[in-house]
Amino acid sequence: MKRGSPALIINLHHILYGEELEDLGRAHLVVEDGFIKEIGRSWVGDAHINGGVAVPLPVNAHIHLNDYRAPDHHFGLSLSDYAGRKGLKHSLIQLYKEPLMPSELLNLFLQYSYIVDYQEKYLLCRELAYELGKIHTNYIGLSRPVDWVNDDLEEILKHCSGLGISNPVVIPVFRSSEIARISRNRIVSSHISENRWMEETGGLHYLLSLGIKLKQVVHGVFLEDWEFKILADQGITLVSCPRSNIWFSGKLPDYHKALKYGVRVAIGTDNAGCFHPDIWEEAFILLYYSKIDPLTILKFILINGYYSIGLKPLVIKEGGLAYFMVIDLGIANERSGNIYLSLINRFKWSRINLIIKGKHVFNNATIVV
Ligand SMILES: [Zn+2]
Repeated sequence: MKRGSPALIINLHHILYGEELEDLGRAHLVVEDGFIKEIGRSWVGDAHINGGVAVPLPVNAHIHLNDYRAPDHHFGLSLSDYAGRKGLKHSLIQLYKEPLMPSELLNLFLQYSYIVDYQEKYLLCRELAYELGKIHTNYIGLSRPVDWVNDDLEEILKHCSGLGISNPVVIPVFRSSEIARISRNRIVSSHISENRWMEETGGLHYLLSLGIKLKQVVHGVFLEDWEFKILADQGITLVSCPRSNIWFSGKLPDYHKALKYGVRVAIGTDNAGCFHPDIWEEAFILLYYSKIDPLTILKFILINGYYSIGLKPLVIKEGGLAYFMVIDLGIANERSGNIYLSLINRFKWSRINLIIKGKHVFNNATIVV
């Protein structure tokens, strides 16, 4: 094949191909003009980079970015004492307004294609989108009114991508038709069943009974069988935040049941002030606590996050937009007994050698953990 210039040719030990993340094994890949022009099942002699594993870029499907500015004030606090309506974090984010985007976060966020943020301050959505735009990471800001009775939802939506509902049962019924209308063409997401109280107050049933179409429900720790079935039937993604759930709720969602019912599961890192927003840390915890098949966990972070915001995943395939990273797993590049397991098990001790986002190429990207 005649290659245009400047093409980037990469020999790889493994390529996780397409939506199924099929392991192609030893192969090469050619990027040209921001697209994947060629994938071949062998190494070539004229490669610019040799070795490593090509992996699509993850989506962090749920984060609260603001509280990163006040790290680790949550020890000994309950969920409501920390994050509830009168919780400590709201005072802290009022107290610490700067920096909007700490530089070490940009270093970490470089590897994400999308970040989905529950943004308490809707006026910040555009600024955050601008900041993340500098590293070509897409920002999806989901916000909410301070006052569900009086605040103007359309004004919020001028700044943000959609609505992120912190506590569904505080929504007054008289706003329901307006929110239902919004949910037909904007992302609406809600915290659901994060603790037993939230499960028992029936947030999921309440929102659906109001005719509100949900793209995501976040947490789902105590969901019942019939609720998993609803999520599967209505194509609503369950966004799970494992570290947060272990910390605040002492329990993880029943992933095996969710998968049995056909629920799509994505992963978020939740409160950035409590849990460093590294999605691979979530995958690691999930692997050890749930013993879900590693390939399925990788689909949670590399594929399903896109569906949770209504997008087709950016995967590695011929003709597709080049959106991937190359990770050097060292000896595991060649000898891993299960490359999916090695990625989750060893990612944090490995190095991202390359991140490609269309025409933007970042070399020697350092993993910050
Ligand atoms: Zn949350």
